[in-house]
Amino acid sequence: MAPPLQPVRGTRDLIGDDAARHAYVVDTARRVTSLYGFAEWQTPIFEDTKVFSRTLGETSDVVTKEMYTFEDRGGDSVTLRPEGTAGVCRALITAGLTQTLPQKVFYYGPMFRYERPQKGRYRQFHQIGVELLGPSVPLADAEVIAAGWQILNELGVAKDVVLNINTLGDTESRDNYRAALVAYFTAHAESLSADSKNRLEKNPLRILDSKDTEDQALVAHAPLIYDHLSEKAARFYAELKTALTSFGVPYTENPRIVRGLDYYNHTAFEFVTTALGAQGTVMAGGRYDGLVEQMGGPNVPGIGWGAGIERLAMLLAASPVVAPPVVVIGAECCIAVAQTLRAAGVKTEIAFQSGFKNGLKFANRREAKWAVLANGEQITLKNLVDGSQLEVCMNELPELLKS
Ligand code: ATP
Ligand code: MG
Repeated sequence: MAPPLQPVRGTRDLIGDDAARHAYVVDTARRVTSLYGFAEWQTPIFEDTKVFSRTLGETSDVVTKEMYTFEDRGGDSVTLRPEGTAGVCRALITAGLTQTLPQKVFYYGPMFRYERPQKGRYRQFHQIGVELLGPSVPLADAEVIAAGWQILNELGVAKDVVLNINTLGDTESRDNYRAALVAYFTAHAESLSADSKNRLEKNPLRILDSKDTEDQALVAHAPLIYDHLSEKAARFYAELKTALTSFGVPYTENPRIVRGLDYYNHTAFEFVTTALGAQGTVMAGGRYDGLVEQMGGPNVPGIGWGAGIERLAMLLAASPVVAPPVVVIGAECCIAVAQTLRAAGVKTEIAFQSGFKNGLKFANRREAKWAVLANGEQITLKNLVDGSQLEVCMNELPELLKS
């Protein structure tokens, strides 16, 4: 016999409790974001490679080592999406919606990154996310963050999570800051990792995000963006903090948050937990005012976040409760009963086994509280918790089972 086929490294099946947790995270996010006026979009899970390579930054971890890029049979280079924002911005342009603003987008689905698999880190993982395209005011940033915070609250995981915020400033601030960073890191170039030496030329800000321990020691004493902010950027950041407080979202300022991707400016933030070991970032995002333009569209500012569903699912204290079914037993006669109950909105399963005894065994396996024994015209409702039973007529059954 051939050995059983295995899932590809870094991928996993969502079955049973894992599937229930996953769905619960998505359902909660969909419900909360819709309260804030976001509408759900679906974009393809693969795109022209340029959608990502042009926008995420040539020095970002994602572009340098994590993308699933391949040539299709027609010779085109396509990439399995590593994140959601670039595809949504591409879709905004494709749909001709760049003048119909704001667009408030919620999405969820699989993302792909070639990383070393470990707890909370997979090669196919899933994200929920939002993008608010159009407004470039701090209130928009605060509202996007507040929607994320409300999702974490409704999932019951907010108590384990801290919001870190930072500003990356505007172009003027970044240019000033970049010069200060280049001066500082050039003076310490001999202690930088090879990756960071490369970043020093291409994108010194990225060094702040390095996971190398020697780099991190240098980063601890690097200049701070706060000392290089333009007046406008400083005001934007101050107003963001005021608005977050009005929304009732607690935060910590963390000047080291720069985010892994190139397209961010002004607001950058991460919701972090200590409950998941090294894989502590559960929700992360920022403002990306130049991104739509970089993709060949007009200047449409944007702010958004993405959150790892697997990491959120691991934080859930308890599994979502699945309501037990009513089980209908009794050969042919059960079909009419089952369909009547389902039409009335009662979760119902038919016992496929023949005989009442086998049917009751099935009902116990399904953890049903009620069984309906249908025998011709005669219908018996049996309480499987206390064993009591009662003769009923078909038309009173739905009401009895709903109450
Ligand atoms: P990390 O620092 O953990 O690599 P990141 O900065 O690469 O995260 P983002 O690109 O901001 O992550 O993605 C947003 C969220 O998606 C993360 O906060 C995390 O919850 C989740 N995520 C990212 N990569 C993975 C992965 N390989 N497996 C599972 N979840 C992931
Ligand atoms: Mg990463």
